[in-house]
Amino acid sequence: QAKAAGGGCIKLYDPELEADLRYRQALERDLRLAIENSELDLDFQPIVDIATRETVGYEALARWTHPIHGEVAPGIFIPIAEETGLIVGLGALILELACAAAITWRRQQIVSVNLSPAQLRRHDLVEQVVTVLARTGLVPTRLELEVTEGLLMDDSEQVRNTLQTIRLLGIHVALDDFGTGYAGLGYLCQFPFDKLKIDQSFTRKMETDTGSYAVVKAVVALGQSLGLQVIAEGVETEAQAAMLLAIGCLQGQGYLFGRPVSAFEVPS
Ligand code: C2E
Ligand code: MG
Ligand code: MG
Ligand code: MG
Repeated sequence: QAKAAGGGCIKLYDPELEADLRYRQALERDLRLAIENSELDLDFQPIVDIATRETVGYEALARWTHPIHGEVAPGIFIPIAEETGLIVGLGALILELACAAAITWRRQQIVSVNLSPAQLRRHDLVEQVVTVLARTGLVPTRLELEVTEGLLMDDSEQVRNTLQTIRLLGIHVALDDFGTGYAGLGYLCQFPFDKLKIDQSFTRKMETDTGSYAVVKAVVALGQSLGLQVIAEGVETEAQAAMLLAIGCLQGQGYLFGRPVSAFEVPS
C-alpha cells in the first residue's frame, strides 16, 4: 500500500508497512494453528449488582498467548479473525470453553459470550449454540450472547430470525458497546434484546463531562422505558458507581468490581 510522504511525493515502498504486513500474515497463520490446537483461553470478568456488589454474571473474554510474542490483545486478533473468516472457528471454541467453565460455577451465574457479526450471519449458529449447550449441560437461561450495533446495520431478515430463535430458547441477548455504533434507535425495537451495555467511553467520562453524563442518563431512561436491563461497562471509581445508582443503572462491570481473571480464579 502506498503511503503519503513528505514533499508531496508518494512513497511506493515503505519498509515499515512491509514489516507490519508480514507480522500480520504471521499472526494470521499462528492464529489459525492456535484455533486448530485449542490454544486460546478465556478470562472472566464479573458483572455485578451495583447496590449489593453481588456477582450476577461473568463476561468471557478471549485471550491468546503467542509462543513468541506473548499476550496478543483481542483488539488485535479478533479483527484479524474477522477479516480472515477464522472467527467462525474461534467463536465456536470460545462458546464451548465459556459454557464448560460456567457449568462448574456453584452459584450458577450467567456467562456472557461476545459474538462477531460474521457468526450471527451464519445459518448454523443456532444449531451450534444448541449443540454446545447440550454437550456441556448448561441451561440456555444461563447463557447470554453479546452482539454489537454493526450487525444491526445489515438489517437482514436472517439475523433478526436468528436472534429471535436464540431468545425463544431462553438465551439472553445483550447489545454491547451501546452508543458507539451508528445504528438508529429504531433497531432497539426491531431486534429482540433484553440488555443494553453502555460503552465504557461514556462511563469513564461521566464524572467530568456533562455530555457523557447526559448520554448515560438518557440510555438508562431509554432502557427502562423499553423494559431492558442496563449495564454500565468500564466502571472504575466509587463516584461512578454512586452516580450510576442515582440514575437507576443497577448493573455494572469494570475494574472497580473486578478485573478479568482466569477460570481458576472465579470463586466457586
Ligand atoms: P467488550 O466486549 O466491550 O469487553 C470489555 C472490554 O473492556 C474488555 O477488554 C475488558 O477487559 C475491558 N474492561 C473491563 N472493565 C474495564 C475498566 O474498568 N476499564 C477499562 N479501561 N477497561 C475495562 P478486552 O478483554 O481487551 O476485550 C476487548 C474487546 O475484544 C471486547 O470488548 C470484545 O469486543 C472483543 N472480544 C473479546 N473477547 C471476544 C470473543 O470471544 N469474541 C469476540 N467476537 N470478541 C471478543
Ligand atoms: Mg462484550
Ligand atoms: Mg462492551
Ligand atoms: Mg467495549
